[in-house]
Amino acid sequence: MFLADYHVHSSCSFDAKNRMFEMAAAASRRGISELCFTDHADIGVPETLQIGPIDFSLPGNQAHQYIEAMEKAPEGIFMTLGLELGAPNHMPEVGKRIFFMPEYDFILGALHNLRGKPDFYEIRYRSEEHCLELYDAYLDELIEIAELGCFDVMAHIGYCVRYMRKYGFDINITYDRFGDKLDYLLRTIIDAGKGIELNTADLVPGGRQNPLLAPLPTVEILNRYKELGGDIITVGSDAHNVNTVGIGIAEGYELLRDIGFSYVTLYKRHKPEFKRI
Ligand SMILES: [Zn+2]
Ligand SMILES: [Zn+2]
Repeated sequence: MFLADYHVHSSCSFDAKNRMFEMAAAASRRGISELCFTDHADIGVPETLQIGPIDFSLPGNQAHQYIEAMEKAPEGIFMTLGLELGAPNHMPEVGKRIFFMPEYDFILGALHNLRGKPDFYEIRYRSEEHCLELYDAYLDELIEIAELGCFDVMAHIGYCVRYMRKYGFDINITYDRFGDKLDYLLRTIIDAGKGIELNTADLVPGGRQNPLLAPLPTVEILNRYKELGGDIITVGSDAHNVNTVGIGIAEGYELLRDIGFSYVTLYKRHKPEFKRI
């Protein structure tokens, strides 16, 4: 069965351990045929890859690791080079220029922190009300990113919920409360010819965020995306080490089939290609 993991970190990311060739070898052992390296470049977060505002060339460590992976990766695995671009809405001109850099095949648009705030991972959540306020602000910023359009696929919609749950706030981001904004976000993405990601880090035991065992975005949001006519979707493990690369991709495809998707999307030079699942 063809499997592609479209969200993989290497040690070009400050929070990941293994080099690209090691990730490719581990992915290949798990039956992955294609993977895209999407290391972190978060605007205003200096630990991540910083590109621009003057120099928009490919970071040296990414170039070196990618070439090394081409040389050392096992046969039969196809690799592409991408980026997980965080908070492009915080510096729109920089975000747009990064998107148009010729070296990247694929850009995930992500939001890990609100403007002037730390990563959702680092926030101390005080109450359910606090969580809901932050989620509302999170959606506003995702809409800014969607309107900016400097990405191919929006990563892990609902990212903040992961960490809220860790603090014991098992809040449900439902259509009752956030339907208007979620619909606006999804419609903006669809109308721009962009897509969304099914992030499988939390989907199966053994994944990165075990024991949450839920897809990001939720099944409700995935269903609604399909209903609104969304058909561009990538599936990614969001692996930060060799133990989790490729985890949950097969299960993610199964979930997509259950929802009614017949294809996943692959990218070459930002051009979507559809692969039947
Ligand atoms: Zn992310
Ligand atoms: Zn990631």
